[in-house]
Amino acid sequence: MKLPTIEDLGDLAGRRVLVRADLNVPLQLQRSEMVVADDFRIRSALPTIELLQRRGARVTVCSHLGRPKGVDPRYSMAPVARILEERVPGVSVLENVRFDPREVANDPSFARELADGHDAFVLDAFGSAHRAHASVVGVATLLPSAAGVTVLDEVEHLSRLLESPARPYVAIIGGAKVSDKLGLLRSLLGRVDQVLIGGAMAFSFLYAEGHQVGDSLVEPELAEACRELRATGRIALPVDVVALESTEPVGPEASRAEPAVVQGDVPDGFRGLDIGPATIERYAEALRGARSIFWNGPMGVFEDPRFRAGTDGVARAVAASGAYSVVGGGDSARAVREAGLADRISHLSTGGGASLEFLERGDLPGLAALRASWEQR
Ligand code: ADP
Ligand code: MG
Repeated sequence: MKLPTIEDLGDLAGRRVLVRADLNVPLQLQRSEMVVADDFRIRSALPTIELLQRRGARVTVCSHLGRPKGVDPRYSMAPVARILEERVPGVSVLENVRFDPREVANDPSFARELADGHDAFVLDAFGSAHRAHASVVGVATLLPSAAGVTVLDEVEHLSRLLESPARPYVAIIGGAKVSDKLGLLRSLLGRVDQVLIGGAMAFSFLYAEGHQVGDSLVEPELAEACRELRATGRIALPVDVVALESTEPVGPEASRAEPAVVQGDVPDGFRGLDIGPATIERYAEALRGARSIFWNGPMGVFEDPRFRAGTDGVARAVAASGAYSVVGGGDSARAVREAGLADRISHLSTGGGASLEFLERGDLPGLAALRASWEQR
């Protein structure tokens, strides 16, 4: 996909450029003050801002932060602005765009207010590019617009999986819900050679095939859809599962009750919380032969050390495969980082929902708006 770049904006000396960044950082309360808990996204926003400043532009940055309903000081950009102004002096940071309900409504009057006083627009928030919001698509209809460094990097990496990926191409899909990822699964099945299923969504598939799933997380209403997808013959399901008595608490600080490995069915009174050792071995074998890999969603409740062997095992297999590998999704990326394997993955996508939607549809509203901004001119 060809996107307009900062070079296409021409001479920027003295020009005022609005950047839509992804500064949706985790915050935490420290001595009754909100502080940035992880500056990964702030660091990711720097290359675009620095590039613009080197070209002589005066940069304004805007972003959303959390999901405030109206103006809410707990979601103020102030803690982010303090860090950003220190690292790239001269930048000005606008308040959380979601304080204004016109942002999500993509109200043209809000887009005009944002664009006002600026000569150009740069979209660097790949993680928001799937949202048709005022600061993402609205402004692009009003100003000459370009993709920032983060957006170009993400599109380049994800496009390798869309346009003639090296084969075999294997996808690994896990996480909590099938319904969220059904569209992605459908579209992936048209492109990949095999999909390995883990996480809670495995139980919806197992249930659909008549297996007992005990108290595991299932979406019974999706049984028909699961059977249809499985009929493609390209979906692999777990052959064993790590299960725990349903009454036992689960989480990072939960009690140390021993889970059990069960084959085929999860008995009543138990819930399946990770893929078992035989499944890890099978999935690792499938990944050994892969040339392209896409992974979204952990294989189990990896936040609890008793249920992270599946996710760690798959992460190691992806890292060892030598395949072109992309991991998308906040929790999956975190699991890979925690396993110390981040530098052995070709691309850790920052996009979450945006990466999934890009792989599903091959385009995003924010990217289409950037291209349209030049077609009008
Ligand atoms: P990502 O953020 O990578 O897209 P998701 O948000 O879809 O991934 O899923 C992550 C969540 O799925 C984790 O919090 C994990 O605990 C949960 N999960 C994984 N396997 C199971 C399971 N078997 N039962 C319940 N929850 C699960
Ligand atoms: Mg998640």
